[in-house]
Amino acid sequence: MSVFESPKLVGVLPKQIIVIADYDLTLAMKNDPNDTDKAPLLPSHYLGLSELASRICRFVTVTARGQESVLNYLGEHEDMYGRVPNVTLASNSGHLVHELDRPRTEQYIIDVPHCSRHTLYRCRDTIHTIVDGLKTEYPDLTADRRELCGAVVYQFDTADQARIKGFQNRVDAIEAATKAEIHFAQKEWPCDGRLMGYVDMTPKGMCKGYTTPIVFNRYKDKAGPDPFVIVMGDSSADYKMMEALAPLIPAHRRLFLSVGKGLVACDDAHENHTGQRLLDHVFTGNGKHPVEQAHDFLTTVGVDDDRRTMLDARHRDRKGPHEILANG
Ligand SMILES: [Mg+2]
Repeated sequence: MSVFESPKLVGVLPKQIIVIADYDLTLAMKNDPNDTDKAPLLPSHYLGLSELASRICRFVTVTARGQESVLNYLGEHEDMYGRVPNVTLASNSGHLVHELDRPRTEQYIIDVPHCSRHTLYRCRDTIHTIVDGLKTEYPDLTADRRELCGAVVYQFDTADQARIKGFQNRVDAIEAATKAEIHFAQKEWPCDGRLMGYVDMTPKGMCKGYTTPIVFNRYKDKAGPDPFVIVMGDSSADYKMMEALAPLIPAHRRLFLSVGKGLVACDDAHENHTGQRLLDHVFTGNGKHPVEQAHDFLTTVGVDDDRRTMLDARHRDRKGPHEILANG
């Protein structure tokens, strides 16, 4: 059954809805499966987000990305389309929380379990030193200093095996030297004669599964006595949000949605450790990009039948990304 027809949605009022979504593949479109770092935020997504967020209780973006890079993405659209309302950005795996309609001075940090604030900042400084050092040694990689963690993104000529081996040995040595406090997540893949990859570095214990219930609890009372929660993501890090929220929300008041092509990861998330099925729906690439399907869904959720018909028609007729709001 299509998620549009889910019986769970019948009678749900917009102001009862809290959406909790990963940034990658829910707000941003990855057209190149070989370049997972390239995830531009399209105007249609920005406008879809604006429309949805203005109607519901709260839209929360929980992302491993840094706050600054997401704000830059959003800022690119602000002048043209206005500021997106009613959105909370929980960056750095949800540990740095900022309500975008509040001043930056009011943002706060959710501590990492078993890690003092002092240790957290020391880990962050170590990570930034590693990121800067790798950038000095390998000037063509992209250094991503985040507020509480960091990452590097690289691409090497596949023929240059000596350089690839040298880089991998360098990262292995750094990981071995810092593994007591810093968690490394690495991925690499070949693409057009290049080896592409990234190294994510976070203080140990930094996790969306830990932060999401804390952020959710901040808004649940604002959604009334019976909140309805939609959680969207595309990776095992995102499914931790669902696992953490499942015990807090009755099954009939939640929709857990997977966006994208990470079917292996999806399979992992079909059940949690107690055998409970977690995912309600998987957006796959059946002729339409999964992110587009997700946005179609998000912009029609919580609206009455007349408005849904109008929005469906608008989606069908949509020629360009500017028409979602421009037409009405
Ligand atoms: Mg993701």
